[in-house]
Amino acid sequence: MKIAELFTKKQPTISFEVFPPNNIYTLEDVYHAIDELSILKPDFMSVTYGAGGSTRRNSVSIASKIKNVNKIEALAHLTCIGAKKNEIDKILEELKNNNIENIMALRGDIPQNGNIEKGDFLYASDLIKHIKTKENFSIGGAFYPEGHQETNDILDLFNLKNKIESGTDFLISQIFFDNEKFYEFKEKLKKLNIDIPLIAGIMPITNGKQIRKITSMCGCSIPPKLKKILDRYENNPIAMREAGIAYAMEQIVELISDDVSGIHIYTMNRVEASKKIMENIGSILRKRDENNGY
Ligand code: FAD
Repeated sequence: MKIAELFTKKQPTISFEVFPPNNIYTLEDVYHAIDELSILKPDFMSVTYGAGGSTRRNSVSIASKIKNVNKIEALAHLTCIGAKKNEIDKILEELKNNNIENIMALRGDIPQNGNIEKGDFLYASDLIKHIKTKENFSIGGAFYPEGHQETNDILDLFNLKNKIESGTDFLISQIFFDNEKFYEFKEKLKKLNIDIPLIAGIMPITNGKQIRKITSMCGCSIPPKLKKILDRYENNPIAMREAGIAYAMEQIVELISDDVSGIHIYTMNRVEASKKIMENIGSILRKRDENNGY
């Protein structure tokens, strides 16, 4: 099913993100995580494309496993930076041949050394327009509640509007730890008459060091409440995990109470936090399904 269609039937959606093998996780580990996450019956699962040190190889086969083996809707990420049209077309063909109906269309990060192959696309909106001329995929795009590091907020909003008008069906947010940032961004989009499903990207913190690295990479802030947790439990891994999951839970329950379109959990290929979260929001999701006639 196309994710755009899913939103007409069910909100909030619950989804998980995994990434392909890297120097820590083998393909077997990733498949195992997908099997465990599938038991939690998410509405869809996404697989990144070369993000955070993972390879681009295997993205299509992982998406195919999610869709065709685990029978969960799959969202395949695809980046266009440095890519030629014929390379993108080859991947689109592979996705189509594997029954994948949804693409998270992204530009990709500019490498720190600035060395990029000259490609046929400058921005995610160029990729989206290209996909639209080729195939009938449902398309997601990224948004940044705290702004994108390369642009000022006003220009970024203007560029986002352009990205949506290029054919984006739904947006998934960068990680944020302060729900107010998400609500403020939602208001800005409302003022621009932008009304498409906004999915909140939530990362349960399980490791203090990792979170400091991630926040500096993606430019999201650490609110004082979370800083206190990090300061207190950073050196106690079990307590840090518990506190991190509790913090994510609080964010999720508040967002769902405020009618968010979807919650997307950045699992980092780990299952425990998602399992605990799904257990804790079981009644909330049952209520959602009753209201939707499931
Ligand atoms: P764009 O929408 O193209 O925006 C990039 C920058 O260019 C922004 O500052 C924007 O304001 C500006 N811009 C856009 N259009 C124009 C224009 N016409 N003129 C001038 N400026 C313009 N990276 C990966 O490598 N693999 C992944 O799988 C991956 N998954 C992600 C999933 C999510 C939910 C998010 C939030 C990010 C993900 N990323 C991934 C990271 C992403 O690739 C980077 O954040 C990248 O820097 C921007 O990608 P984008 O698609 O948002 O780019």
